[in-house]
Amino acid sequence: MANVSIRELAIDFGSVSVLKSLNLEIQSGEFIVLLGPSGCGKSTLLNAIAGLTDISGGQVWIGDRNVTWEEPKDRGIGMVFQSYALYPTMTVEGNLSFGLRIAGMPKDEIAERVNRAVQILQIDPLRKRRPGELSGGQRQRVAIGRALVRDVDVFLFDEPLSNLDAKLRTELRVELKRLHAGLGSTMIYVTHDQIEALTLADRIAVMSGGVIQQFAAPKEIYRRPVNRFVAGFVGSPS
Ligand code: ADP
Ligand code: MG
Repeated sequence: MANVSIRELAIDFGSVSVLKSLNLEIQSGEFIVLLGPSGCGKSTLLNAIAGLTDISGGQVWIGDRNVTWEEPKDRGIGMVFQSYALYPTMTVEGNLSFGLRIAGMPKDEIAERVNRAVQILQIDPLRKRRPGELSGGQRQRVAIGRALVRDVDVFLFDEPLSNLDAKLRTELRVELKRLHAGLGSTMIYVTHDQIEALTLADRIAVMSGGVIQQFAAPKEIYRRPVNRFVAGFVGSPS
């Protein structure tokens, strides 16, 4: 659990400025959704927090540490992508424990953490399966499990439900809420889906063109959008 502070963050790709002096203060334990249309810079912002992209200016703080120049693995974050990014030849257990084994964690502690994760995510019966033998929803649970076993302070999700059908999306949304309530971790969740944002978030940051247009609780954004863009984007279904 940690607060996340984005200060004057700028990111350029070549001559194109994708994020422009962006500020965002996220409280410890908050569930934040970054909401905006495709191409507005959501993934770029998430990648900057994770340390996965070069930044042109500004700082990223996690807890009381300036992590701007820290390696992704040292930042205390876990990231879950739309595409799962599982190791196809490893079992579920193998996928969950791999990072911990690499880090040299003792075997019994790894076993304990893997047990806890498969219980929480209800994938215990799938432990010996490989990703190819799992449904999309099950794969995404394993991907979440990989962040869970590392006991991270901050979870980052980049459109994790986009590849799933509507029923599964609803189901996993409920589970993510429960996971958040149980862990109390800080969660930053990217989506272009208004319904996801409105149902998941403590606060929503509505983005367009690399700028945060409004950062407020769902109710506030829905009732009192600060401009036409926010009103149009949050008010109308995609
Ligand atoms: P979103 O996640 O909101 O759909 P992105 O953060 O992926 O948007 O992209 C924001 C903008 O930056 C887009 O115009 C995209 O084309 C551009 N962009 C993203 N990554 C790169 C890159 N590695 N090189 C050049 N342009 C990029
Ligand atoms: Mg994206």
